[in-house]
Amino acid sequence: MTAEKVLLVILDGISDRPCPELKGLTPLQAARKPNLDRVARDGICGIMDPIAPGIRPGSDTSHLNLLGYPPEKYYTGRGPLEALGTGIRMEPGMIGFRCNYATLDDQGRVIDRRAGRIHQTDDLSRAISEKVDLSEMGVTFDLRSGAGHRAALAFQGDGLGACVSSNDPKKEGVAPLRFRELRDSAADRKTAEALNIFVEQTNAVLGRHPLNLSRRSEGLAPANTLLIRGAGEMGFFEPFPERWGLSGSVIAAATLIQGIGKAIGLQYVPVAGATGSIDTNLGGKVEAVRNELESREFVLLNIKGADEAGHDGQAKEKKEFIEKIDASLGPLIGIENCLLVICADHSTPCSIRDHSADPVPIVIRGDGVRTDSVRTFDEYSCAGGGLLRLPGSALMPVICDLIDRAKKYGA
Ligand code: ZN
Ligand code: ZN
Repeated sequence: MTAEKVLLVILDGISDRPCPELKGLTPLQAARKPNLDRVARDGICGIMDPIAPGIRPGSDTSHLNLLGYPPEKYYTGRGPLEALGTGIRMEPGMIGFRCNYATLDDQGRVIDRRAGRIHQTDDLSRAISEKVDLSEMGVTFDLRSGAGHRAALAFQGDGLGACVSSNDPKKEGVAPLRFRELRDSAADRKTAEALNIFVEQTNAVLGRHPLNLSRRSEGLAPANTLLIRGAGEMGFFEPFPERWGLSGSVIAAATLIQGIGKAIGLQYVPVAGATGSIDTNLGGKVEAVRNELESREFVLLNIKGADEAGHDGQAKEKKEFIEKIDASLGPLIGIENCLLVICADHSTPCSIRDHSADPVPIVIRGDGVRTDSVRTFDEYSCAGGGLLRLPGSALMPVICDLIDRAKKYGA
């Protein structure tokens, strides 16, 4: 008997290094996590280099690699993936960007790169979409608000390039920069010029928008400009069902991961209350996974909060969130006919507050799958498991083999 379905759970940034606050243990080692440990006991464990030894992965490049899309071929920057995740339909050749609504003072200097942490910018994005006009440049655009101060933008038109600078000065008290091409090419020059016109017109629309006038009168920072970065050209992704022969869904709070799922042809399933932080609606996500597995062969579940705790350097908070994740995973462990794979997309050590290249723990459990003597799910125990050390690019081939979907190499 082999399982026919696959649940891939990516615990974003969950693995770590020894933390002094936890008496030298990692948050995974220190956490009480009976469900993850049970899967480790019943399955086969190992460690995995999400991209390669010594390469510090981004969440985007790692997810692409783990799903079988080598980032050196498929990754063209964060912009197009964020744009997809925010709800823009990206076609190959379109240029995508990430944006922040921000605050300029009367002298045109950036005084808040997040516009007072504004919650809702839909009305502002709608006003820009109605009033800003780039037709003189032969460019159409799509601007969508994301969570909080975030938004995404896409340009479509002939002869546009993606090799352009950002207008984000990355600090406050100075004016935004002008966009410029980063190499001597007419296509990149055209994009930079269109961006400069776009921001000029956008500032005029935002400056007199009623929402900003009322924010000003309430003493709140107006969202009166856009800082734009992460330019990338949307590429062509062979659809996941064709590449691996599996229909699939993605459940993730982070727009970046939603965008990756959409780019490769996984069905995106929204979950109310999924925030990507440690206050996320874990129960709702788990419920959505169970529903999806009724009709799909492959479900990707990303749980983000532990990464955030790592970036904040909060080891105890990270450990506590791991315990919360563990408690919520119960309903996913007993699903029949399903290969359960649990891993991370990278380590986010509290000691360095960013991603590191340390390999991540992985466990695979399913009918007919070999087991080993590992009894707890953490960085150290899994290193002694039967999977040894896998490269991230091997994950999908290993999964396909274990569910009997791999083709024989040779006779
Ligand atoms: Zn990540
Ligand atoms: Zn991160």
